[in-house]
Formats: sequence, structure tokens, C-alpha cells
Amino acid sequence: MDAMSDVDAIIVGAGPAGLSCAASMSALGLRATVLEKANAVAPVWRRHYDRLHLHTDRGHSGLPGMPMPRAYPTYPPRAQVVEYLENYAAHFRIQPVFNTTVFKIARDGPQWRVDTDKETVSAPIVVVATGWADFPYRPSWPGSKTFQGNLIHSSEYRNSSPYVGKRVLVVGFGNSGGEIALDLANADIDTTLAVRGAVQILPRDLLGFPILQKSLPTDLVDFINAPVIRLAVGSIERLGLKRHAKGPRRMIEEDGRVPLLDIGTLAKIRDGSIKVRGGIDRFTPDGVVFSNKDAQGFDAIILATGFRPDLRDLLPDVKGVLTQDGKPLVTGQATNGPGLYFCGLIASPTGQLREIGLEARRIAGLARRYVDQEASSLG
Ligand SMILES: Cc1cc2nc3c(=O)[nH]c(=O)nc-3n(C[C@H](O)[C@H](O)[C@H](O)COP(=O)(O)OP(=O)(O)OC[C@H]3O[C@@H](n4cnc5c(N)ncnc54)[C@H](O)[C@@H]3O)c2cc1C
Repeated sequence: MDAMSDVDAIIVGAGPAGLSCAASMSALGLRATVLEKANAVAPVWRRHYDRLHLHTDRGHSGLPGMPMPRAYPTYPPRAQVVEYLENYAAHFRIQPVFNTTVFKIARDGPQWRVDTDKETVSAPIVVVATGWADFPYRPSWPGSKTFQGNLIHSSEYRNSSPYVGKRVLVVGFGNSGGEIALDLANADIDTTLAVRGAVQILPRDLLGFPILQKSLPTDLVDFINAPVIRLAVGSIERLGLKRHAKGPRRMIEEDGRVPLLDIGTLAKIRDGSIKVRGGIDRFTPDGVVFSNKDAQGFDAIILATGFRPDLRDLLPDVKGVLTQDGKPLVTGQATNGPGLYFCGLIASPTGQLREIGLEARRIAGLARRYVDQEASSLG
């Protein structure tokens, strides 16, 4: 692991965030090593479900220094996202150290000590770009251990084929839940969506600009866009859904929840191919009881209940950088740890990939200044 010695920065993770940080740092003359526990870049995009396409358009999804190719469609499929990320790493000559899991980051004098399953390495800068994928959130309900059907988290879903002829409940109406329900309904599978709370839905083509325009105040953006959204989405109350009182921008900023970007799920709800039910009260051996006390049988339940990153195990002794439940206090900015940064770890109003690019550039600038200041203070 010679690539690890004498570097300015250690970047943990070779997904979009880690690659963006490596490219942005290299542009400012910093030497960075990327540590990745898998055996290739972008492993999370390699294992997403088959039908996944970007729901942000290619023009707003490219990483710093290399836009997505014009030959790609507006919403590239998963395989092209992987191809783009492979080409991105090759273009910027980023050669991650693969099969290397970081299990602890700690302050060690003027450096950060990074313990991996291979060896311990140190650098003045460390960037945590580990994403959310390792933290699927699986809420538990009374009786959920007694359920005898197939129970998975959305991150384990690949395609509809194991569910043909089955009654499937998808729990949660975020982007994964909406798209998985659509995938099942397209395959004529008996599909029900459990939707507990109020939702905010945007037609996919309205994401980004100007709908969530970052430069304007949050409430003004939501106020301006409300009639456009109502016109484009129509009445969702008639479909058994409740519209969230907060506008999309406020919902992302305050709750970290990205609105549902509709790519056809609403049409399937309208034509009855996807049935909408309320929240779940409890599980039974052969299904669930909904909060209105209706019992219904299901053969499979897919929890599209999101992710909750918790970095306490990775940074057990670093004070003042994480919330009580282990999320970074800030991402893409200076932290209370000198030279320690997080990239891409908070939901963004204008698309996570775009935000990752902005954060990476900012982190590279901060890191460059930090390294220069340390060098000048040493004389
Ligand atoms: C289904 C889905 C669809 C999405 N679609 C879009 C979209 O259309 N547009 C958009 O802008 N955003 C989208 N996102 C959000 C976001 O852009 C992606 O999740 C993106 O992959 C995040 O990049 P990342 O580098 O932060 O995390 P990841 O891609 O998860 O990469 C993190 C990397 O860190 C590695 N790692 C983790 N822990 C360790 C460790 N301890 N040691 C070593 N390596 C480690 C992992 O193996 C992984 O390679 C989507 C997310 C999901 C889940």
C-alpha cells in the first residue's frame, strides 16, 4: 500500500463523493489516496435495482471537471452512471486502494490516523465519503418477527421476477418505494403501497431548475412553485394520499427528505394497478394490520424506509463533529476536526450528485488552505 504513504489526504470511499473529492484535490495540487472497501469504483451503483435511471438530468448530475457525455440520454440508466464513474476515475487517474475497509478514524497529533483492515495510515486531511448505503433503516413493528413471507429492504430489491404471482406490499412512498411499486405494477404484480404520512410529489422533469432554485429564499421558492406543482401533479387527495404542508424545498431542508419525483407511479395509482393504504399498525404471520385496523395478507413486504447513516463507530473519539445519532453536523464544510471533512452525507434540494460536486470543490479549497497554513506555521 505504498500509494498510501506521504499523502496530503486520505479519502474514504470511491463512490461519486470520494471520486469528486480526489479529482478536485488533485486539481489544486494535493496528493490524495482513496480507500475503498469494495473491489471497484461505484460499487453501490453497480448493485442498485435493474430499472434505475438517474432521476436528476444528466446536465445536473456530472461531477467536477467532467460533465456526463452529451450522447447519454437525459436520464441515464444505472449502467451508464457506472460507466461514467469508471471513466471519471480513469480520466483523473484516480487509482483507489480497493478491498480496504476503514474501521476507525482518530486524531493523532497534527495528523489523522486511519485504521484499515490492512494497515494504519496517516495524513493531515481526511474526507469521509462513505455514503448511506451501509445504513438501511428497517423500522420494527409489533409482530414483524412472526411474518412468514419474504421481508427485504429496498436496497436488496433487484427486479420484479421473484414476485410474479405474489401479493407485495411496498412500505414507504419515497423515490425508491415509488419506483419499486411502479416496477412491480408494470409486471402485473398485485402491488400495494403503505403510505403513513403526508407526501410531496414533483413530476421528475420539474426537479432542479427553476423549481428548487437555491439562490432564492426557501418559502418564496415553495410559494412560487405551488400552483405549478398542483397543475402538473393534480389532486392526490382523491388517490388516498395527503399532501405535505411543507413545500418541497422546506421539506428537504428541515427534514432531509427528498420529494417523490414521479416517473409514472401516480398514473398506476390512478388506474388502480397500485393500491394505496395507510400506515402499518402491526405484522401478522401472513401479512399486516393497517392503522385503520384492516388486516390484509401479503406474500412479500419491501421496506422502502430509507437510510440512516451512523458514523459513531467510525469516529468514536472525535468530539463535536457528529449529532447524537451519528450523522455529521455539517457536510461539505469545515468541521470541528481540523482537516476533517464529510462529503455528500446530507440530502440536497437540487440533487445529491450536484451537491456532491459543489461540496467536493469546497472541501478541496479548504483542504488546500489548511495544508498551506500548517506548512507555513512549521516555518
Ligand atoms: C436508489 C438511489 C437512486 C439515486 N438517484 C440519484 C439521482 O438520480 N440523482 C442524484 O443526484 N442522486 C441520486 N441518489 C443519491 C446519491 O447521488 C447516490 O446515493 C450517490 O451514490 C452518493 O454517492 P456517495 O459517494 O456519497 O456514496 P456511495 O455511492 O454510497 O459511495 C460510498 C462508498 O464508500 C465505500 N465505503 C463505505 N464505508 C467504507 C469504509 N468504512 N471503508 C472503505 N470504504 C467504504 C462504499 O463501498 C462506497 O463505494 C440516489 C440514491 C439512491 C439510493
